[in-house]
Amino acid sequence: MISNIWEQFLTIAREEAGSRVVETWFKAVVLQHWDAIEKVVYLKAPNAFVQKWIYANYMQLLHTHLGRLLNMNNIRIIFADDAQEPQAETPVEPRYKAAEVAVVDDKIATSAHVNSTALVKPSLQHGGHINRTYSFDTFVIGPSNSLSYAASHAVTERPGSLYNPLFIYGGSGLGKTHLLHAIGNEIKTKNKNAVILYQTADRFVTEFINAIRFNKIHKFQKKYQSVDVLLIDDIQFIANKEQTQEAFFHIFNALYEAHKQIVFSSDVIPSSLGGMAERLRSRLAGGLVTDIHVPRLETKIAILKKKAELSGTMLDDDVANFIASRVTSNIRELEGALIRVMAFASLTNKTITLELTQRVLSHTTPQAVPIDFNRIIEGLRKHYDYNLQDMRSKNRNKELAFVRQVAMYLMKKMTDKSLRDIGHFLGGRNHATVMHALYKIESCLERDPDFLHKIKRIESDIKEVSR
Ligand code: ADP
Ligand code: MG
Repeated sequence: MISNIWEQFLTIAREEAGSRVVETWFKAVVLQHWDAIEKVVYLKAPNAFVQKWIYANYMQLLHTHLGRLLNMNNIRIIFADDAQEPQAETPVEPRYKAAEVAVVDDKIATSAHVNSTALVKPSLQHGGHINRTYSFDTFVIGPSNSLSYAASHAVTERPGSLYNPLFIYGGSGLGKTHLLHAIGNEIKTKNKNAVILYQTADRFVTEFINAIRFNKIHKFQKKYQSVDVLLIDDIQFIANKEQTQEAFFHIFNALYEAHKQIVFSSDVIPSSLGGMAERLRSRLAGGLVTDIHVPRLETKIAILKKKAELSGTMLDDDVANFIASRVTSNIRELEGALIRVMAFASLTNKTITLELTQRVLSHTTPQAVPIDFNRIIEGLRKHYDYNLQDMRSKNRNKELAFVRQVAMYLMKKMTDKSLRDIGHFLGGRNHATVMHALYKIESCLERDPDFLHKIKRIESDIKEVSR
């Protein structure tokens, strides 16, 4: 039974991360036992090095799939001989907040119901959860998002006929998921019989894998092909998953030909989606493509006021202004700051004043712009004469290949992105290539103090730009 579960995990990991990863890191790991009450899974790695790599790179993979295979939510993973909790481990966030409700196959269920049933039969039955709180009413329109808002709204007027597919792209925390749900909610309000399915692309991948494993491909396809509206969030996650893309391509065509509405979100424009079959990429870009940018100060203030109002609080201008100017680029973080202020005021029974807000947020210095991939490429340009296009190209010129590996190393070190994301960004390279780069650069750093010095300088330049 135990070895069977581990074998199943390896099969899934092979599809998700590739067989080289499985051979290198997971093959020699043993699933020793698990505690269903404490929700702890005990693994044993062949040595400390493998264990460290797995901590650094594959905890998410373990959490998601072992959790599912063992029918447990939010598992903790502990390596034998390892008294401490792994540092890199973050508990998997619960998918739904308490206040949310979900629409599943036209029935309304509370989140508790959805969560508990989803535990028993993980994937094939569910999916398609629409979050009621993400509606057009609660979405604040500004110059940074007006085009995407208008397109989303238009789609709900005549689903399937105007802009199909609609493709919304933009950075993290800027409202893409909110808009996808808003489309679902609005169409449902106009036509309560409409079958609407919201799914993230990585859940789609998992579902597909499970469908293959349990011989339920037919059911899987039927589920997706029988919807009226398909909302796929973060489509970039099906990069490099050839089989899943193939399956998705057929679903897409069937829905498209039946004039069913399809909406995608992504972190990049379709042409920059690495690891994507050309014919699928051209389908994604074949309708209307719109973007969402970082909002201006006025929009951020309006969003803060709206969010506060939704929780029954009126926010003064100076307070909203102060929070909005401290949090620069991500609306999710903007909301986080507001929640901290409101929580503090409520716990201490005080009203929200500018002074209180300043005090609560005093630990968060004006937020540095988070280091992202583009920033790293910019930083590298000061030291090496290659641009993003070079980095993404197939050119294997020795120096360029080395700089590309440096970029991979810095991206892994300076951001919280996965190897998969890094490879994807740098021209659709695979996981194993990035891993190889990390080895190579780490060993150069150990051997060559001048190189170490140079990399340190580059790192501080990149941080400098971010300030
Ligand atoms: P993304 O999917 O682009 O990463 P989300 O849609 O999850 O971002 O948005 C993050 C948070 O910011 C959500 O709570 C969402 O409600 C909020 N948000 C983003 N844009 C807006 C907006 N224009 N008006 C109101 N709330 C917004
Ligand atoms: Mg999102």
